[in-house]
Amino acid sequence: MTSPEPTADQSLTSVEYRMREAGAWLQLEDGVIENLIAPRRVLEVSIPIRRDDGTRVRFTGWRVQHNITRGPGKGGIRYHPSVNREETVSLAAAMSLKTALMNLPLGGAKGGIAVDPKLLSPRELERVTRRYVSEIFAFLGPDKDVPAPDVGTNAQVMAWVMDQYSIGIGHAVPGVVTGKPLALGGSLGRDSATGRGVVEAASLACQTRGTSIEGKRIVIQGFGNVGMWAARLAVGWGARIVGVSDVGGVIASEKGLDVDALVIAKQQGIESVVDAGVGEVIARGVEHSADVFALPSDIALPCALGDAIDAREAGLLTAKYVIEGANGPLTPAADDVLNDRGVIVVPDIFANAGGVTCSYLEQCQNYAHLQWDEDEVNASVVSTMRSAFKRLHAFSEEHSLSYRRAASVLGVKALADAHQLRGLHP
Ligand code: NAD
Repeated sequence: MTSPEPTADQSLTSVEYRMREAGAWLQLEDGVIENLIAPRRVLEVSIPIRRDDGTRVRFTGWRVQHNITRGPGKGGIRYHPSVNREETVSLAAAMSLKTALMNLPLGGAKGGIAVDPKLLSPRELERVTRRYVSEIFAFLGPDKDVPAPDVGTNAQVMAWVMDQYSIGIGHAVPGVVTGKPLALGGSLGRDSATGRGVVEAASLACQTRGTSIEGKRIVIQGFGNVGMWAARLAVGWGARIVGVSDVGGVIASEKGLDVDALVIAKQQGIESVVDAGVGEVIARGVEHSADVFALPSDIALPCALGDAIDAREAGLLTAKYVIEGANGPLTPAADDVLNDRGVIVVPDIFANAGGVTCSYLEQCQNYAHLQWDEDEVNASVVSTMRSAFKRLHAFSEEHSLSYRRAASVLGVKALADAHQLRGLHP
């Protein structure tokens, strides 16, 4: 199979291509892979709200339950101007593969609104969130579909989701959402979980080559929840963060950026790392954000949005390991370029699964009305990542498959097995 031609909606093309490739490798019966690729349910909703100045405005939102054969839907809610149906379907499909690969008893879902949250006041953001939840209310529930934060949403947004849903049900339902504040039944360790998993994935990949991340030079695209925590934890492991980029541009330091100073500047509300006064600003503007991968480095962590690295960016990338913190940051064409150069790519459906693993632990705590301590949660996230990597690495070695292909095959196989066992209704 050759890589698909890039299209406007590369992310959907990529996940379909990878699932189809896995289905062919598994020699699934006719029609099975098409059934697994097709989303089970796609809901498009209109979200009218009144702005603070009294005028009306309308946004469009989606909630997609891609696969719910193995358990309730699970996936984030994204607020970003570029959110659309195809992207939401592709992110939901990736969640189906991720929960299957990680052996979590959950399905795959995703939601989002095409809106720039930075252009809304906090009260407008709350109104948008509440109206969105009321529109998708019938879809949600601890046993049906459980959202979480993603790009542009946070614990406060999850608190509004929980409240709006609970009002409809008539009592508090903390388990309808994960990534919520601790005071509402959130889990300790959730903030850092995705970044922790990304660093663990980098460490596991290095270990298979007889090395560690200590002393390694790391470049990161995206300094939000995932990128920031990955940077903090990697520094704790003795790595050097030599470049960081985000919507504002790229900063770099050969000696290693002062990550603590960057974190403080972020907490003080800077828009972009280029405004932090840390390291050297080597480019300004979102169009240069991928230039960070051209800096001399050992490990690259794309932790921003999908399709960040296509064949061109892959050609410039200097790292020997790429760990996908974001969902879908590499196109299949980029995979081909990096594969040919012997670069080890650890795919998103494993590398950023620390987040959904911790979300699952949050669901378990909510079901049991318990709160586990932070060390227990962190240890459980790490041990789940290690077990999944053991299976992934062994399968990749046994069948001489890249981690990408091995992960897709294992994910698709778990979904196909579940479908086969449950049978086809009617
Ligand atoms: P976030 O909103 O906290 O941060 C996003 C970061 O990416 C910001 O630094 C922003 O400046 C940067 N960014 C946005 N658009 C960009 C662009 N076009 N070019 C360069 N940089 C850009 O989001 P997050 O929660 O850190 O999520 C980042 C990625 O990780 C997303 O792909 C998300 O789906 C994925 N992910 C997140 C979690 C989680 O727990 N938060 C879990 C799994 C996967």
